[in-house]
Amino acid sequence: MQRAEEITNCPECGHQIRIDPRHVTWCDKCDWNVDPTPREDHTPPWRLRLEHRLAESLYRELETGSVHRPGWDAARIGAHVLSALILLLPLIAFLAGVALLVFYRPLWLSGMLALLAFGVAFLFHPRAAQLPDDVQLVPRDQAPTLYAVLDELADAIGTRRVTTVVISTEANVWYQQIGWRFRPVVGIGLPLWAGLRPQERIAILAHELGHGRHGDARSSWLVGAAWSVLYELKETFTEQHGDRIRRELGYGEPTGATLISRMLNASIGVLVRGIAWLLERLELRGNQRAEYLADRKAGEMAGSEATAHALERLVLAGASYRALERALRFPTGIDPLEAVRREVTEVPAREIERRLRVSRLREARTDATHPPTYLRTRLIRTRPATTARLVLGIDRSRTIDQELHPTATKALAELRAGL
Ligand SMILES: [Zn+2]
Ligand SMILES: [Zn+2]
Repeated sequence: MQRAEEITNCPECGHQIRIDPRHVTWCDKCDWNVDPTPREDHTPPWRLRLEHRLAESLYRELETGSVHRPGWDAARIGAHVLSALILLLPLIAFLAGVALLVFYRPLWLSGMLALLAFGVAFLFHPRAAQLPDDVQLVPRDQAPTLYAVLDELADAIGTRRVTTVVISTEANVWYQQIGWRFRPVVGIGLPLWAGLRPQERIAILAHELGHGRHGDARSSWLVGAAWSVLYELKETFTEQHGDRIRRELGYGEPTGATLISRMLNASIGVLVRGIAWLLERLELRGNQRAEYLADRKAGEMAGSEATAHALERLVLAGASYRALERALRFPTGIDPLEAVRREVTEVPAREIERRLRVSRLREARTDATHPPTYLRTRLIRTRPATTARLVLGIDRSRTIDQELHPTATKALAELRAGL
């Protein structure tokens, strides 16, 4: 489809720029209007500069190619020590309960105190990661091609084979170890998946399995268990929604119970949130390094060019989710996932480039879970090019879509019902 393209001059530098009515008009020479809707960000400039510097220094560390595994730096050791301390809480509570019952008399009093201690131990015991409720399971016998590809990838990468694939309607693909047996699960988000070309799918799946290989801090059971305890603590010692409404509406005098809960929130709650913030910071560099290493694995498996393209597609994740929502709200007779695929593949390279530049402005934050996309693609492209070890042809890619179709239909029906 040929469209008449208009040309205008950049109001900042006079450089000629193309106008595409469907996308933002911006200047690739001086970045004029590259981010027309900047987010409100109250971070002081010095901190942004510092975070940019941290992101760039981590990037350089990987650019030299000397780093091959997450490694035990001071921060990672700190994260594990802190996690161990957090896990002492339920353990100490449990032991205190036992000690009370054994050594303290009268029994009725020690029994009551022990019950309290056991309650604390139970409430804040570590929990294993569970599957989210809103996902659909894809059994192995229903998707032999997909599982064969995943097995092949897992074997080549040197990680455990995936036990379950699940489907969701979010625009992401993820990897998690579920339960105390840490069964590896891959989650496929339909809107993102639909917009990926075959080899880009290999890249994304290889990236996720790469996380299994490196066992990054999040998936280490110690830190994971500590996070589950922290999560419960945060839930318990944070002002509940109902409390907030009551306070804002000025309903009645605060009772003794609400005063106590407010005091606990102000003391223990602040402490818990502080510890969570610290643990997040300690893990951050390790987590981001793990992302780069997973990207490298993806490059080895899918080839560097397809991997870089796949990462660039990630900047369209939000757009692909909105496209899916639109397709479900206003059905046109086309399969909703096909509509997403068309919309995403029609986005011109210039618009993807703009979004990558926005990622440089917005995502260089060290509190993001992933390093900024522009650095990830740059790292893939500056390292020596790799050819694919595993090739997924168009046919096998289509077969996978057919295998996923019944489960995808269910997932989409649920999303449609919730719109
Ligand atoms: Zn310009
Ligand atoms: Zn990742």
